[in-house]
Amino acid sequence: MTSTHAFWLAGRQATGEDTFDVTSPWDGRLVGKVSVPTDAQVEEAVAAAHAVLDEFAATPAHVRAAALDHVGKRLAERAEEIAQLITAENGKPVKWARGEVGRAVSVFRLAAEEARRFNGGEAQRLDTDPGGQGRLAVTRRFPKGVVLGIAPFNFPLNLCAHKVAPAIAAGAPIILKPAPATPLSALLLGELLAETDLPAGSWSVLTVPNDRMPALVQDERLPVISFTGSDKVGYAIEASVPHKHCTLELGGNAAAVVLADWSSDEDLDWAANRIATFSNYQAGQSCISVQRVIADASVHDRLLPRIVAAVEAQNTGDPSDPATDVGPLVSEDAARRVESWVDEAVNAGAKLLTGGKRDGASYAPTVLTDVPAGVALATEEVFGPVLTVQKVNGEAEAFAAVNDSKFGLQAGVFTHDLQTAFRAHRALEVGGVIIGDAPSYRADQMPYGGVKQSGVGREGVRSAMEDYTYERVLVLTGL
Ligand code: NAD
Repeated sequence: MTSTHAFWLAGRQATGEDTFDVTSPWDGRLVGKVSVPTDAQVEEAVAAAHAVLDEFAATPAHVRAAALDHVGKRLAERAEEIAQLITAENGKPVKWARGEVGRAVSVFRLAAEEARRFNGGEAQRLDTDPGGQGRLAVTRRFPKGVVLGIAPFNFPLNLCAHKVAPAIAAGAPIILKPAPATPLSALLLGELLAETDLPAGSWSVLTVPNDRMPALVQDERLPVISFTGSDKVGYAIEASVPHKHCTLELGGNAAAVVLADWSSDEDLDWAANRIATFSNYQAGQSCISVQRVIADASVHDRLLPRIVAAVEAQNTGDPSDPATDVGPLVSEDAARRVESWVDEAVNAGAKLLTGGKRDGASYAPTVLTDVPAGVALATEEVFGPVLTVQKVNGEAEAFAAVNDSKFGLQAGVFTHDLQTAFRAHRALEVGGVIIGDAPSYRADQMPYGGVKQSGVGREGVRSAMEDYTYERVLVLTGL
């Protein structure tokens, strides 16, 4: 019999009246039952977070840093168990799940370091004008209020870490809401937070169903919403609370550009391998998965067969097997949607070079060329293991092709040329340009986020701390 996982209400475990099931996308087995908080319990968590605002903001940096260090250390100690849990609930191959736990460890360690440095205060002389004579301004940052962190299913631990750790580091209480398909990693993170001395009320992990989220989003005691997920849900949230501070980390259809100077056999092998790996890791369910390859005509014909070979070399299958590169998508519905988009493109004239087959929730790594403009695969976020390749002439055309998207999260540019790298940095309408690698590289201290319909605001530990706080100036007179 599967026991029911409690949620975390103001730092302690609690159960409600209902439960929901978490099942494995790979074999459909029941991974866990999760308790759902009642309205009264949600109210209790919000009230507790609101009540602890001043106390938490005033908690000494060393106390918050020690708590963050503790969670990082415990994540590292329990890494294998947590990786297995991520694989079970998400279907992510265990090799990628291990990497995700390692990143969450870094997030907590980085947040501990930032907690020690943050808010040292800055003094500005004001006597640059006669009216400021004898005055000094001291600027410090204060939490905007309780953060509501809403996380997606695709990195069930690390994207929760990216909400919680910066909040603790900045002294802002947080209510975390994990994705319904993958709440178990977030609930386990709660176990580690509960081992710390953080004030009760400073954090909760609430497994609230989607249909009850609008009430939480509307709650005026939660002025900051940090959302990671689809553009549809993100923009609906923002539109429903235009007066709140919303950070939206949304989707993308990231491009990898391969330019003319990236032309040796070694260069092309590296690019093909990186592109194949990062269009398929997490079965393409990463917001910076490679979806579009934009190759200069001078290298295209040598690159394309290498990409197809590298995609065909991906090991597909059971995500618990350490040799597996590509597991199932999060659900059969998700795989059916990917299938329908590929079918639509092929019916409209696209050439399918490999893949294009679905088996339950699994979709074979797929490469297409000649994808006509206007089909979903060309304009939307596929969020599956599917790659399109297009040929362009020269750098300007390549950069224009990258920007020909409603999204703008990250782009990868394979070039050796420093000037080209700077031009790419200026020209590409994205939150991050990765030179010499796929667009899918992310380090957890980097500012991370998008432009256009990929969202607004930045995560990354320091950026999120700035997001959760605001500057307040103190002017001293009579000096
Ligand atoms: P989703 O939008 O379906 O769900 C995200 C979260 O919102 C979940 O916790 C969900 O339960 C919650 N939610 C759903 N309806 C809600 C409502 N009405 N009010 C409040 N919350 C609600 O996204 P998903 O399918 O879990 O995740 C995939 C998406 O996330 C993709 O588009 C992907 O690109 C994006 N993503 C973006 C980033 C980034 O940093 N930019 C990172 C990872 C994933």
